[in-house]
Amino acid sequence: MENFTAKKSLGQNFLHAPNVISAMIHAGEVSDKSIVLEIGPGKGALTEALLRTGAKVIAVEKDDRAIPFLQDKFSNEIKSGQLELIHQDILDFHPDIERFSKDNYTIIANIPYYISGEFLRKFLEIDNSPNKIVVMLQKELAKRIVDDKQSILSISVKVYGNPKYLVTVSRKFFRPMPNVDSAVLIIDKISKNFFKNPEIDEKLFFEILKTGFAHKRKILIKNLESKISRIKLDKIWESENLPKDIRAENLSPEMWKKIVGNSV
Ligand code: SAM
Repeated sequence: MENFTAKKSLGQNFLHAPNVISAMIHAGEVSDKSIVLEIGPGKGALTEALLRTGAKVIAVEKDDRAIPFLQDKFSNEIKSGQLELIHQDILDFHPDIERFSKDNYTIIANIPYYISGEFLRKFLEIDNSPNKIVVMLQKELAKRIVDDKQSILSISVKVYGNPKYLVTVSRKFFRPMPNVDSAVLIIDKISKNFFKNPEIDEKLFFEILKTGFAHKRKILIKNLESKISRIKLDKIWESENLPKDIRAENLSPEMWKKIVGNSV
């Protein structure tokens, strides 16, 4: 089995922490009935533990050097069909509806940090989204997602699911050691229900959200004036009893929904 060295450009920091791997698998409630999509198996530390549960694992890896390594390491599981190895960039990978129907699979992954935002957007927004995501992120990013002080990022996750900060993972558990600590984030209850009852347009929601956060120093109502008439805004502020000087970071997802719903 030919080993390979870590490539910085692919965000390769390999995890050496059996306890963290167990915690991720436990959080994902993985069993022999599960279908798991793993992103970036690398040298297979997480893959190996996932396979031990009896779950079916589909692993998508971009690095061509990792593919023969993993094929060799997991030749039995590949032969039996328990492991499917796909050589592709996850951002170009389209989870087909036959294998990945809505809620029938779980994502468990230690992803490279450089794709975090795009990865989350992709798998939260698609129609056949997973039932749960258990993912290793940069600690600060995970904290920002669960924070009560809102951001475009935190709202963009909270409207699709329920994010929970599981555990901080020190940088010293990775080889090579990165410059930052990590954390495991769980997102469950993934759905598009937020945009239903009353129905609001997903695209418009994000347009208005971005407008609200556009100028950090401006109060929210001033930011939104470029998108929604002041008369409408005053009406919403009055009916929702919002302080005139409220800032975007203090508004809950539900309140954003009311603003968007009343803006048309
Ligand atoms: N899962 C392994 C572990 O826990 O040790 C490796 C984690 S390492 C942080 C990230 C992995 O994702 C690497 O194997 C890297 O080659 C792979 N990767 C990087 N960019 C990718 C992409 N766009 N699509 C799929 N895999 C990618």
